[in-house]
Amino acid sequence: MTDLTRATAAELADLLGAGSVSSREVTRALLDRTAAVDGAVHSYLHVDEDGALAAADDVDRRRTAGESLHALAGVPIAVKDVMATRGLPTTCGSKILEGWVPPYDATLVTRLRAAGMPILGKTNMDEFAMGSSTEHSAYGPSHNPWDLERIPGGSGGGSSSVVASFQAPLAIGTDTGGSIRQPAAVTGTVGTKPTYGGVSRYGLVALASSLDQAGPCSRTVLDSALLHEVIAGHDPLDSTSVDAPVPPVVEAARRADVSGMRIGIVRELTGEGFQAGVQARFDEAVQHLVDAGAEVVEVSCPSFTYALAAYYLILPSEASSNLAKFDAMRYGLRVQPDGVDAPSAEQVMAATRDAGFGDEVKRRIILGTYALSSGYYDAYYGSAQKVRRLIANDFAAAFETADVLVSPTAPTTAFRLGDKLDDPMAMYLNDIATIPANLAGIPGLSLPSGLADEDGLPAGFQVLAPAMADDRLYSVGAALEARLTAAWGGPILDRAPELEVAR
Ligand code: GLN
Repeated sequence: MTDLTRATAAELADLLGAGSVSSREVTRALLDRTAAVDGAVHSYLHVDEDGALAAADDVDRRRTAGESLHALAGVPIAVKDVMATRGLPTTCGSKILEGWVPPYDATLVTRLRAAGMPILGKTNMDEFAMGSSTEHSAYGPSHNPWDLERIPGGSGGGSSSVVASFQAPLAIGTDTGGSIRQPAAVTGTVGTKPTYGGVSRYGLVALASSLDQAGPCSRTVLDSALLHEVIAGHDPLDSTSVDAPVPPVVEAARRADVSGMRIGIVRELTGEGFQAGVQARFDEAVQHLVDAGAEVVEVSCPSFTYALAAYYLILPSEASSNLAKFDAMRYGLRVQPDGVDAPSAEQVMAATRDAGFGDEVKRRIILGTYALSSGYYDAYYGSAQKVRRLIANDFAAAFETADVLVSPTAPTTAFRLGDKLDDPMAMYLNDIATIPANLAGIPGLSLPSGLADEDGLPAGFQVLAPAMADDRLYSVGAALEARLTAAWGGPILDRAPELEVAR
């Protein structure tokens, strides 16, 4: 039999549908792969072997009984540890939630379960999704399967590395400033941030509520579209959920048609500051799209220069408010202050937050609290909101001349673990090309553009579309992927080094 761990979700769906394999066989193969490689990669914070196999058996039984099942029924998936999962630990990569087991499922998780997708486990992440490398996880970093000394991106480096190392065909990520797209870029995988409100945030532990969006991680564009369709759609439990039909993402991915499409290159997101090999693969990819019948235009978004600054005021402001609920009273950790007899609630709270939050989280809480304080609110948070409007205006103008916008996803390939840990500004600069989409609420997708010449590591190609035109991401992504994989003679991950397998 073919190696089930290498199959895409679409291939697995076909095999399962035809009765050629059982979900138990697929799930078992992936769990065995995890036992063999995750000691080195550390994609998972928690593996739910029993739960995944039980869900697989349930689907197999229903299939045998002749029930009509969802197309992805029986295809296993890994879920970022920021999504609430009933009965499964949910830590957000933080000590403050160590041991917390939610009593409910996020809406997205409910939909996965309803589709019959076994949940393999919860993936590693930067604490509360703050970071670009997973080095801010309280449980140690994940590693890039292309080179274990390098970062798998962040905050969703567990979800990118789990699909890149063939432990799961699909994973769920969340993207507040790039945490689905940048990890996809540096691991040679695909990731989509849907339109804000396109996928329910109910049960997604909030980092910055106006920016957060959950979405698919996979190895192919079609697989992301298939998963996108499962998790998207209106949810009355999320007041920001869009009450409109889900864009035809799967159809777009299957048609892979870009003829006559106007592709806008964002001047501010190319050239200076982007690694030469990343830029070269980007330029070639654009040429492939032209060969496929697209038209290229250049657009300018001058306010993007201020996107990073605005993001690092808005995000910490919202985070400082969202994280106030970790007060030692309601969930998770509670620490008694040293040498205090009858400590007050405030003293317990301070001791708990001191011990439970890591440096990056504290840094952002302090920044956000300051930016929101009276006297500074207008100068910082208020100005940042104005910049946010200017960025949305820039996008609106650009989408008058282009159907989609494109850029490299991240300025560089994967950097070495430890390289940027002590330099928050250097870490923040990774998000320069991804953040504008979150500020404007529009959808974005990253797919591999090739390997950079300097280091032989994967680079990412980003596609952005207007709100609720998520299907365009998949048209462009699938068309480009088809041409690139033909040029490479197979999927890019075939060129990643074999991982040393533990037995
Ligand atoms: N790296 C960005 C940050 O640290 C993005 C995080 C995210 O998208 N969750 O804020």
